Amino acid sequence: MKNNLITILALTTAMAANAQTVKSPDGRLAVSLQCENSRLSYSTSYDGKTILEPSPLGLITDVADFTQGLSVEGFKVDTVKFSYSCQTLKKSHVDVKATHAVWSISRNGVPAYDLVFMVEDNDIAFRYEMRRQPAKVKGDSTFCAIIKDDQTHFNMPQGTTTFLSAQMKGGTGWSRTAPSYEHPYFTDRPTGDNAGGAGFVFPCLFKTPDGWVMISETGVTSAYCASHLDCEQGNRYKIANPLDADYNFNGTTTPGIPLPGCTPWRTITIGKDLAPIAETTIPWDFVTPLYEPSKNYDYGAGTWSWIIGMDESVNYKVQREYIDFTAKMGFKSVLVDNWWDKQIGRDSIEMLSKYALSKGVSLMLWYNSNGYWNDAPQTPRNIMNNLIARRREMAWMKSIGIRGIKVDFMGSDKQQTMQLYEDILADANEFGLEVIFHGATLPRGWERMYPNFIGNEAVLASENLHFSDDFCRQESYNATLHPLIRNSVASMDYGGVTFNDYFNTTNDSTMWGGHRVTSDVFQMAVAVLFQCPLNHLALYPSVTKNNEPWKLEFVKNVPTLWDDIKLIDAYPGKYLIIARRHIHTWYVVAINAQKEPLKRTLSLPMLKCGITLYSDDTNLKGSMKELKISKKSTYEINVPQNGAAIFVGKE
Ligand code: CA
Repeated sequence: MKNNLITILALTTAMAANAQTVKSPDGRLAVSLQCENSRLSYSTSYDGKTILEPSPLGLITDVADFTQGLSVEGFKVDTVKFSYSCQTLKKSHVDVKATHAVWSISRNGVPAYDLVFMVEDNDIAFRYEMRRQPAKVKGDSTFCAIIKDDQTHFNMPQGTTTFLSAQMKGGTGWSRTAPSYEHPYFTDRPTGDNAGGAGFVFPCLFKTPDGWVMISETGVTSAYCASHLDCEQGNRYKIANPLDADYNFNGTTTPGIPLPGCTPWRTITIGKDLAPIAETTIPWDFVTPLYEPSKNYDYGAGTWSWIIGMDESVNYKVQREYIDFTAKMGFKSVLVDNWWDKQIGRDSIEMLSKYALSKGVSLMLWYNSNGYWNDAPQTPRNIMNNLIARRREMAWMKSIGIRGIKVDFMGSDKQQTMQLYEDILADANEFGLEVIFHGATLPRGWERMYPNFIGNEAVLASENLHFSDDFCRQESYNATLHPLIRNSVASMDYGGVTFNDYFNTTNDSTMWGGHRVTSDVFQMAVAVLFQCPLNHLALYPSVTKNNEPWKLEFVKNVPTLWDDIKLIDAYPGKYLIIARRHIHTWYVVAINAQKEPLKRTLSLPMLKCGITLYSDDTNLKGSMKELKISKKSTYEINVPQNGAAIFVGKE
């Protein structure tokens, strides 16, 4: 109660200037709402420094234009406090404390919507909760609306630089499978550009003169589309609906909602440094599970042959070898990739699954989401997009002990596609199947909302290491970005960790396949850097088995479920030092993408006993040693470009 009183007092002073201000529980983050000339805008500050300049709000719908004729009719504020647990997040237990502010907005005197803001110490989530409206034609009222344009803006201060990935234009890319969130990130770019009109995917990271800001959205279900961010001009960014060409022009770009109904949560994470960005739980704090899990889903590491052996490896013999290898590694999952229906066949998949189960391993099966929206030829096709075929297939999978599915080439942010994601997830849960999506959108709170959801690709993932030497040379650069951007807001199915020098089955330059430039210790670090609760690694059995035992032991034991995360130091595109905890064991990882070595004295008070250090020499040759506990809890690192250091120790 005390907190509420303080907030309300702070509020009355601010109201004089035609603005109402609410503050985070610790008082450092402030959100102000202004209504001038019957239009609404909001602004934010942290420790009194501007983070967002006054930014217009409002929705343009088929019912009315809710950006003008507006007035603030009511205001309520209180504090919410609760906890939740979800083992598939970067942090298994979360305590939430937020200032909950509701502004009731009318248009021309008729109640229009509530603007709901949740303000945590470093995070804001807000949405529009629309009221039922007077009928357009005749009758009592309108029970639905189409959101033609969301006019929610994010006006960055002068001097902001951007760390963004462009939205892919629908119908572009390989076999017209875009958008799939597979454009590169560019760092430290000026504002003002809008990626050729396509805008940028969430999450969007910005560096302002006084700190860091990440903008994203969460809670997207079949009840809305996935949005992205357009740069209108200069420092003015706004929410944008999907592009018309998504989904081969099927479906609309304008989401429909019932009335009353709401938009997804838009989120803003703010920090003086990057720790609040890397550690945020805002994607999950205000969403809830949409159904009960039908069973206790299992997580851990697994393997997949496709990343090294490509389509050719999807045959009975190689998959059986991977099952044997996977069982020896102590893993429980083998992902059988595309063409299995043609190259292995359903009868043999049943035999393979039976064999896997006898070894304590179960299979994930790949599916093409199509359908009728792109030209990806891989089979099985025309199953996951159709309720009757999908449920029949899932019943078969359940009967032969399949653990889950990887559904590829979704390629659209439209509401119609969000419906397909949700339908696949809900059906899969009925049959006890876990779900991974590739060629996909960013998951928006889905780990908590859909209990059988594992992770999406939605990033330039490990397949590009196979396809391109150039991408191999960018590997450490990209790895410094993902824990701060893409992987900060959702599980990321990257499919990395390899000891191959070349991404091919001969492991040399005689065959096609990218040439790895990162060290083996770097590859081990990838298992800690990229979070995904069921993590299929790019290990190639013959290369892996002949490796030094300490590397194998590390990969066998590294967890895929995490209880806590701490960012120690980072600059996106340059270097990253991050710590994750599994029960009582901390993994502290440092990587370096810069030419000059990364030299630091790290303070690691969380490491209290049994410390092991994995590190590289200047030639990227790795070694392992046991460390004595430092009295001051400080440890030196010297990480060469494309190398890594990993500390493992108990708290
Ligand atoms: Ca892909």
